[in-house]
Amino acid sequence: MTSFAFHPAASLAEATALLAQYGDGTQLLAGGTSLMLLNRLGLLAPDHVVGLRDVGELRGIAVDDAGALRLGALTKLRDIETAPEVRGVPVLAEAAHHVATVRIRNQATLGGSLGHADPAQDVPPALIALDARVDVAGPNSTRQLPVEDLFTGYLETSLHPGELVTGVAVPRSTRGTRGGYLKFLPRTADDYATVSVAAVVDVVDGRVTRIRVALGAVAPTPVRAHSVEAALVDGHVTSEQLRGAAEFVRQDIDPTSDARGSASYKNDVAVVCVRRLLGRLLETEQEGR
Ligand SMILES: Cc1cc2nc3c(=O)[nH]c(=O)nc-3n(C[C@H](O)[C@H](O)[C@H](O)COP(=O)(O)OP(=O)(O)OC[C@H]3O[C@@H](n4cnc5c(N)ncnc54)[C@H](O)[C@@H]3O)c2cc1C
Repeated sequence: MTSFAFHPAASLAEATALLAQYGDGTQLLAGGTSLMLLNRLGLLAPDHVVGLRDVGELRGIAVDDAGALRLGALTKLRDIETAPEVRGVPVLAEAAHHVATVRIRNQATLGGSLGHADPAQDVPPALIALDARVDVAGPNSTRQLPVEDLFTGYLETSLHPGELVTGVAVPRSTRGTRGGYLKFLPRTADDYATVSVAAVVDVVDGRVTRIRVALGAVAPTPVRAHSVEAALVDGHVTSEQLRGAAEFVRQDIDPTSDARGSASYKNDVAVVCVRRLLGRLLETEQEGR
């Protein structure tokens, strides 16, 4: 474990000012689950760490006047899993439920899981499938961007120096919107995903009117399965069509070989996961394999 200077912030303005003051490489401490682990392993050695625990502006779960779900950056993943406000939103609580263990979920935060930018995390693909936007604040400005645009590379984000995630807005789902999450992890139940898929679909009179599919652990960032979406939108989807469309996911992903499996294995698993999840959501016939 390397030592660092710790600066607890009492407000959002103080947090962004401290980030700007200490510059590149300064880390934020939210739940600390990733930061402290990486520091202990010697993989992350910041000189300065800004503590967010007392920043009240980053807390809260609410539904705004437009029906969007607003989640503060300090929202615990366990609260996303259990909060009544989240119950009407497809896929989100289900994805949060799959993060590690209750102990981790009670500590880890939404802002931390976005800022950490590990592509194998469970909640980001769900947010991307939901077309959620991330709220960002810097010392002198705020902005909002689609969650998928936050991630630029492995453990890398598009946050500018001095910026942090303040929250997330999930648009209101229409009645009848279906969503789901499938995490493939053959080792232990508390592991990171080998491949994960989140999807949200609207079906009107048997026709797919809207579909968003996002995958985790199959590229340096979570990714949208644009090719799969394009193959299915505007159609009455049969199991045969779904089987063909799921194959297109190979064009959208770029997995690497690691301890959880080879790149070619992950490509095959992604096809199966997409087919099974969308088969469940679109109620086409389910097949094995
Ligand atoms: C044993 C273990 C198992 C895990 N298994 C899973 C799993 O199965 N699935 C899964 O999804 N995740 C898993 N995780 C990761 C966990 O979800 C993340 O560690 C967590 O979400 C990070 O949140 P945190 O609040 O603890 O962040 P911290 O550890 O406090 O910070 C992590 C990073 O995010 C940055 N950060 C924190 N807050 C913000 C903010 N508001 N804006 C911008 N950047 C910020 C920090 O600078 C730091 O770089 C696991 C972690 C551990 C330790």
